[in-house]
Amino acid sequence: MVTVKLMVTAKLMVTVKLNAKATKLARKGHPWFFGDDLLGSMPGHGSIVRVEDVDGHSVGLGLYSTTSRLALRLCGQWEGAEIPSAEEFFAARLESAVAKRDSLAGPKAGVRLVHGEADGLPGLIVDRYANCAVVQVSAAAIEHHLTSLIPALVEATGVDCVIARNDIPVRKHEGLAKEVRLLHGRRIESVEIDEAGLLHQVDLFGGHKTGFYLDQRPARALVRELASGLRVLDLFCYQGGFALAALQGGAKTALAVDQSEDALARASTAAERNGLQGLETRRANVFTFLRELRAEKAEFDLIVVDPPAFAKSRRELRGAMRGYRDLNRLAIRLLAPGGRMLSCSCSHHVTPPTFEDLVRQAAADLPFRLVLRQRLLAGEDHPVWVNLPESEYLKSNLYERYD
Ligand code: SAH
Repeated sequence: MVTVKLMVTAKLMVTVKLNAKATKLARKGHPWFFGDDLLGSMPGHGSIVRVEDVDGHSVGLGLYSTTSRLALRLCGQWEGAEIPSAEEFFAARLESAVAKRDSLAGPKAGVRLVHGEADGLPGLIVDRYANCAVVQVSAAAIEHHLTSLIPALVEATGVDCVIARNDIPVRKHEGLAKEVRLLHGRRIESVEIDEAGLLHQVDLFGGHKTGFYLDQRPARALVRELASGLRVLDLFCYQGGFALAALQGGAKTALAVDQSEDALARASTAAERNGLQGLETRRANVFTFLRELRAEKAEFDLIVVDPPAFAKSRRELRGAMRGYRDLNRLAIRLLAPGGRMLSCSCSHHVTPPTFEDLVRQAAADLPFRLVLRQRLLAGEDHPVWVNLPESEYLKSNLYERYD
């Protein structure tokens, strides 16, 4: 007598249906839905679900949350009819995101490995700095799965430590606490990364964003390329990313301005570490300092204007627009003949056309013409997903005094 044991793994088939209004939005490519966009009974918090439109057509997988206003976030297609387990889902998505960044990899690389929705992982950012990964979670459904996600991330990257930099205000809309903590491995406070031969120290627990402005890599490359022999002004320099790139590219001088003493000290240390001469730092409020420079009739050949996000919310938009306009007006007037200005905005509430309009207004009544030479996006590791216009948050435009 032979007994055959049948092992049946029952996978729960959870399907969520969009209502007619949400179906219209989904057909236009919209990836986020509210609870009242959905029909029928709702799955449990954090469920990975199949999503159908009102006519029963598949819209791919979604992540469902009971605590977020954005109850359902689409997260791309998944082959077959089954719903993957959290382990399968995160392993596959992470592996694919990491593979896409192969050309940027290296033992001392600083690279964004996961850029949220664009990588089919809504509400998740992962930045790698050498042997450390920093995650930032802005969706409750992702937070719910951290225990599956972190081992998958370690497996896909081989990092020695994973840190949560969850000190971002949007978490409160998801019912998530702000926190910065070690999630895996040994605690590493700070690492050195190598960007095109330039060494930067990244403070993992306390640096801006997840530690460094990885998104401006193409803009730093452009500055390095243009800088030879120039007098450069780096406004809102933080730890001197642009000023150092300019000096690496052969700039004659680089004046780096920030209100933070600590940031300026880091810039000076980095210049020394990289053996670069010609850095001058100045602790000042940029708006006041630009007026002083104007009064002194100072001139620069290349000016970088890369302020913090002036509009962190829609409410702050009017004041922010005034800020960008004033700042650009003051900076443009310090350009030497033929001088160039790289003007940036990282507020996603200020759209690319709005930003260009502000610079146009700032350039009114000039005794010379200002021309637009280049529009840069964030680096390729920060893909702008066309269905999520918010992901085009960074604008870096190169202008030139043309007289
Ligand atoms: N350009 C930097 C990033 C800028 S972050 C880079 O590429 O790394 C914004 C910086 O602006 C911060 O370091 C902050 O200290 C500084 N800052 C903000 N408001 C300022 C002001 N009014 N005057 C001078 N610095 C300011």
